[in-house]
Amino acid sequence: MSHKLFVVGIGPGGADYLTGQAQAALAAAQVLCGYTLYVELIAPLYPEKETYTSGMRQELERCRWALETAQKGKTVALVCSGDSGIYGMASPVLFLSPEYPKVEVEIVAGLTAANAGAAVLGAPLGHDFCVISLSDLLTPWETIEKRLRLATQGEFALCLYNPSSRKRRDYLRTACEIVLAEGRDPDTLCGWVRNIGRPGEAARLLTLAQLREEQVDMFTTVYIGNSTTREVQGRMVTPRGYRT
Ligand code: SAH
Repeated sequence: MSHKLFVVGIGPGGADYLTGQAQAALAAAQVLCGYTLYVELIAPLYPEKETYTSGMRQELERCRWALETAQKGKTVALVCSGDSGIYGMASPVLFLSPEYPKVEVEIVAGLTAANAGAAVLGAPLGHDFCVISLSDLLTPWETIEKRLRLATQGEFALCLYNPSSRKRRDYLRTACEIVLAEGRDPDTLCGWVRNIGRPGEAARLLTLAQLREEQVDMFTTVYIGNSTTREVQGRMVTPRGYRT
């Protein structure tokens, strides 16, 4: 009997973004579980497999279900979008795993939205950067604000996850205002990518002043350049620093 739980990052989109390692884990699993949308993205590849899906907010319940099912003797794959260790399920699974001593947990890396979206725009993360989530569901807003300020002071390019939701429509505006207040030029090149690797993928380059006025949704990843980021033939490029 196997007691294996794979925690699999499936990348931002459908099958094209699965790594070979992720495909092997999904193929080995008897049960695929996760948030409905992500299971639906990959389930067509494995039509014979049992699936278990749950809603967006039921994350700990989903982790426990996966651990319990593996503890009972099944091979389980818990799927997450992007990378499972980046705002994903790998961390809560590992915190809960001591309660399920039979289960062997294996974390399978995936392509995260930051680098998949960067490739759509060009090379906005060509030098040091910070990834910051604007969601204050699990992080106090003061902490998010502090991180935005210090990352701006540090001259990092920024990549923002969870830039908006129905209840937090003005968070991107507030974040831009913080970055501007810390002295980043309003003409700084920025970009966003929506639905990376999924139907309806869209992207735009704009200035920081324009980004402040932009409405984006929760399926969008946002990039704020550093002072050296430039547009090169319609692409957003942050230099490595070579003298060219
Ligand atoms: N584990 C995921 C991130 C989950 S947090 C990963 O590694 O990518 C959810 C946020 O990720 C979204 O609000 C959005 O900012 C970003 N994101 C995830 N998938 C995306 C996609 N396909 N297109 C654009 N942004 C995405």
